[in-house]
Amino acid sequence: MTATLIDGKEFAARVRGQVAAHVTRLKADHGITPGLAVVLVGEDPASQVYVRSKGKQTVEVGMKSVEHKLEADTSEADLLAVIAQLNADPEIHGILVQLPLPGHLDEDLVINSIDPAKDVDGFHISNVGLLGTGQKSMVPCTPLGCLMMLRDYHGSLSGMNAVVIGRSNIVGKPMAQLLLGDSCTVTIAHSRTKDLAQVVRGADIVVAAVGRPEMVPGDWIKPGATVIDVGINRLDAPEKGEGKTRLVGDVDFDSCAAVAGAITPVPGGVGPMTIACLLANTLTACCRASGLDEPEGLTA
Ligand code: NDP
Repeated sequence: MTATLIDGKEFAARVRGQVAAHVTRLKADHGITPGLAVVLVGEDPASQVYVRSKGKQTVEVGMKSVEHKLEADTSEADLLAVIAQLNADPEIHGILVQLPLPGHLDEDLVINSIDPAKDVDGFHISNVGLLGTGQKSMVPCTPLGCLMMLRDYHGSLSGMNAVVIGRSNIVGKPMAQLLLGDSCTVTIAHSRTKDLAQVVRGADIVVAAVGRPEMVPGDWIKPGATVIDVGINRLDAPEKGEGKTRLVGDVDFDSCAAVAGAITPVPGGVGPMTIACLLANTLTACCRASGLDEPEGLTA
């Protein structure tokens, strides 16, 4: 391996430390405790793990954590009533509705019922529009984490060629907007892109957010490029024992690390940054709601 490893676990711990220090000051100087509410509908096992982890880390940085666990057959009206109550609660500064929602619930309707100022996932249509027009917004956590790591590693990203593989609303599109905001020349690739290998070979920065295990091989990577692997894919790992699995990203780590200048691992890269950025967004939302200065370096 020749690439520098961008350690998301270590970086996320640093971000949580900064958030915790701000929270301590907010409490001491202003008597304000940032509050994050997470709403979980149903019993999807992966979502339950995420929600537990979010709650634990929220408390660890000194914030108030509230969880609303609703039955899988909760009606849309009942879910909207919970969100309305959280929108009106002055002790709650961030609201996150864990996705995916059960099929009978309209995700767009639910997300757009969250007060945009409390929309710490950055998925509300107002925040999407604000980000797209370069205005102050709540920024989706995963792309924000990727941006923080890129800025930390490179300093300025101005003029760099960036290729984002994937055009989802939660990762690909906001990632592209953020890179554009930092003056990269941005290409968004997707399943219909022709000659993806050639497109990726022109990139100084590659962000892979596809959901296809180890899809990007090393010979697509320009020597010295920075590779950010967003993908989380679980593969069977019989070599570890019966029924065991392992996590891999969307890039083939070994071959890419042999060519790239820097690369994020999976696990331990983008993943830990996502929750750290959720906490950073909650802090930002709290400061904005309280008319206080926003924490530096924790927003886009
Ligand atoms: P989506 O399934 O919503 O989007 C995948 C994108 O990849 C689509 O735009 C799709 O194109 C594109 N794509 C699919 N196949 C190809 C291909 N062969 N060549 C090029 N592009 C292709 O996924 P998400 O954006 O939600 O997530 C992407 C990955 O990131 C997943 O592995 C997910 O688990 C992970 N993830 C990780 C997070 C973290 O915290 N680290 C957070 C969120 C996601 P098209 O639009 O044409 O179909």
